Amino acid sequence: MSTAKEEKRYYDLKRYFIDRFGCRVYKIQIDAGFTCPNRDGAIALGGCIYCDGRYSRLRQAGQLPTVTEQLLAGKELYGRLRGAKRFLAYFQTASNTYGPLEHLKKLYDEALAVDDVIGIAVGTRPDCVSDEVLDLFQSYADGGSHVWIEYGLQSMHDRTLRYINRGHDLACFLDAVRRTDGRGVNICVHVILGLPGEKREDMLETARLLASLPIQGIKIHLLLALDGTEAGRLYREGKLPMMSREEYVQTVVDILELLPSRMVIQRLTADGYRDIHLAPEWARNKLAVLNAINVEMERRNTVQGAAYRADAT
Ligand code: SF4
Repeated sequence: MSTAKEEKRYYDLKRYFIDRFGCRVYKIQIDAGFTCPNRDGAIALGGCIYCDGRYSRLRQAGQLPTVTEQLLAGKELYGRLRGAKRFLAYFQTASNTYGPLEHLKKLYDEALAVDDVIGIAVGTRPDCVSDEVLDLFQSYADGGSHVWIEYGLQSMHDRTLRYINRGHDLACFLDAVRRTDGRGVNICVHVILGLPGEKREDMLETARLLASLPIQGIKIHLLLALDGTEAGRLYREGKLPMMSREEYVQTVVDILELLPSRMVIQRLTADGYRDIHLAPEWARNKLAVLNAINVEMERRNTVQGAAYRADAT
């Protein structure tokens, strides 16, 4: 019987860090107070249909600690629980390049000044990254920091992006990847499976496209219906079919087979919304999903990259 703890048939973040740094590196999530142009009216007000717009629990609680305070708290926690010694500052909440360059630099500099923080991972939208910001990331990478930029794409299909109110199209994402490539900055792309109107082949098409691009990592989520979101409303009205666990597992394994073997798989499920989670019910048990993916890879006797073709588009 396989468990998520055994050697994986895909290249996960833990293994990547050990290969790269000889030890585990822990990502400390930071809410640096950013907003999102898809929520504040710069692009749209409603946001993506699955977005709860609550930002982090820290922000919900009122007073947001500084970047340094959040990192010190994360270091203390991971140090105590896991004996962690190296960290990445993960600017996770909202669009973390959405602001004036000087403000961004101040926040990233603050993170990199904390002892044992060896780099940054910055989550953002592809329409939110100027060449000046990329120059800044490149300067960090040139200076020896480990830098990831995480672009939300979700789907390569413009009809889907329109439906989920992403506020950007595929061309915008491709342009961001083109401008980021070659700077020593690692690119991770977020995708969501089970978006409205998408069939399995549509999702695999997105995977084939990503396999053909100069990106180093991927996060695969599934569509969740959360209370208070447009997706939640559609679900309650019976207008949002959700993936079954079996469909999700089969599609994830198909995607893993299509991706290059050294693309880092940073996430394979979604979680963290227990209080507003409506559906699918099976997604509440993250470990069971991960185990089912491992079991299916064993059943197929397959590995990440088994169906990868360098010339695929
Ligand atoms: S881009 Fe991110 S923060 Fe902005 S609306 Fe979409 S999911 Fe929410």
